[in-house]
Amino acid sequence: MGKALIIGAGGVSNVVVHKCCQNPDVFEEICIASRTIEKCEAMKNTLEGSRTKIHTAQLDADDTDMVIDLIMSFRPDIVINVALPYQDLSIMDACLATGVHYVDTANYEPPETPKFEYKWQWAYKERFEKAGITALLGSGFDPGVTGVFCAYAQKHYFDEIHSIDIVDANAGDHGYPFATNFNPEINIREITANGRYFKKGEWIETDPLSIKKVYDFPEIGPKNIYLLYHEELESLAVNIKGVKQIRFWMTFSDNYLNHLRVLENVGMTSISPIAYEGQEIIPLQFLKAMLPDPSSLGARTKGKTNIGCIIQGIKDGKPKTYYVYNVCVHEECYEEVGSQAISYTTGVPAMIGAMLLLKGIWKKPGVFNVEEFDPDPFMEALNKYGLPWKEDFSPTLLD
Ligand code: NDP
Repeated sequence: MGKALIIGAGGVSNVVVHKCCQNPDVFEEICIASRTIEKCEAMKNTLEGSRTKIHTAQLDADDTDMVIDLIMSFRPDIVINVALPYQDLSIMDACLATGVHYVDTANYEPPETPKFEYKWQWAYKERFEKAGITALLGSGFDPGVTGVFCAYAQKHYFDEIHSIDIVDANAGDHGYPFATNFNPEINIREITANGRYFKKGEWIETDPLSIKKVYDFPEIGPKNIYLLYHEELESLAVNIKGVKQIRFWMTFSDNYLNHLRVLENVGMTSISPIAYEGQEIIPLQFLKAMLPDPSSLGARTKGKTNIGCIIQGIKDGKPKTYYVYNVCVHEECYEEVGSQAISYTTGVPAMIGAMLLLKGIWKKPGVFNVEEFDPDPFMEALNKYGLPWKEDFSPTLLD
C-alpha cells in the first residue's frame, strides 16, 4: 500500500519498525533514518527476511533541507517522526515542502525552554490544509491512546463529559537504582516542571510533584500517583467540548523521587549551560550521557504498566462513570520486539496512526490531534496489534 520514512532510531522507533514489518501489506517499504546510522542498520539486521523492504539513511533531522533531500530520494507517502520533540518543526517544514503526510508522538519543545505546547504545531494548520496533507499529532500512548479513549467515551457512553483523570502507572522494575524509561532529557524536563491542570476553563499551576494520592490500579495494586502537566491536557481541553476538569497522574517510586531530588539539588537537571574546563556543557545532557540508554532497559525490565482514563459525566440525564485502560507486560513486549513496555505502548499507536492515514481512514488536510478523528478504527486496531483495552463502569474515583 505505501512507503514510510521513520525518523529516529531509539526505543520507540524500534517498536514502530517491528510493527510496520508485522503489517507488510500496509507498509511495503520503510526507511529508518537517524543521526547514528549504525543504530538504523542494527535494527534492519534484526528484521532480516521481513516482507517489508527496509532501507536506512543517515539524517540530521534538525536540517530541513537534508530531510527534504531524503524525502525526494525515498519518496515516502508518510513520515513517522519518532526522533525528539526538538525536530518536530523542521520535519513538518520538510513534509510541507514535499507534500507528504506527517505523524509524531510528542509536541514541539524548544531546546532552550522546557515548555512543550501545541501552539507551534497548530500554527501549521492552514499550510497543511492548503497543501492537502495531514499532520497527525501525538499518536503515542499519552498523548495518543489517552485522547482516543476520551473520544471513544464521548462517542459511545456520554452526553456530557465533566471530568477526565488520566492515570499512568509503570510498575516495571529494571533493577537499576535510577534510570528513565524514555529519553532521560525529555523525561526529566517533564517531571521537574510545575504541575498544571484544567478546571472550569482555567489552568491551575502547582509546584512540581506537590499533589500526591494513592490509586489502586487493576492488575498492579495501590501506587503513589503525582499530578503532572502532560501535553494531551491542552488539546483535550479544546476538543472534548464542555469538559470541566482534566488532570494527569503518574506513578513514581520513593526511590526514583529521592534520586531525582538529589540530582536537582546539586544542579544536574539544569538546562542552563555551564563552563567546565574550557568547555560549555548542559548538566542535563551530561546526566543523560551517564544514565542507562532507555533502549537497553528492555532485557532487564519486569512487571506491568497500566495507563487509562477515568471519566465522569452524564448519560440520559444520569451521572455515569467509565474507566478504560490498557495493561502491558514489559517482559512480553521485550520477547516480541526487543523493547520494554514504555517504548511498546508508544510505538504501536504511532504505527496505527500512520496505518489509518495511509488507508485513508484518518486522512483529512490539516493538523489534527488524535481525538479529532473517529476513535472506533483505532480502538479496534489496538486490540489487534498488541494493546488490548479493558473497561470498568464502576471504577474507584479520584476526589
Ligand atoms: P530515544 O532517545 O531512545 O531516541 C531518539 C532517537 O532520535 C535517537 O535514535 C536519536 O539519535 C534520534 N535523534 C535525535 N536527534 C536527532 C536528529 N537531530 N536527527 C535525527 N535523529 C535524531 O527516545 P525514545 O525512542 O524513547 O522517544 C522517541 C520520541 O517518543 C520522543 O519524542 C519522546 O518524547 C516520544 N515519546 C512519546 C510517548 C507517548 O506516549 N506519546 C512516550 C514516550 C516517548 P541517536 O541515536 O544518535 O541519539
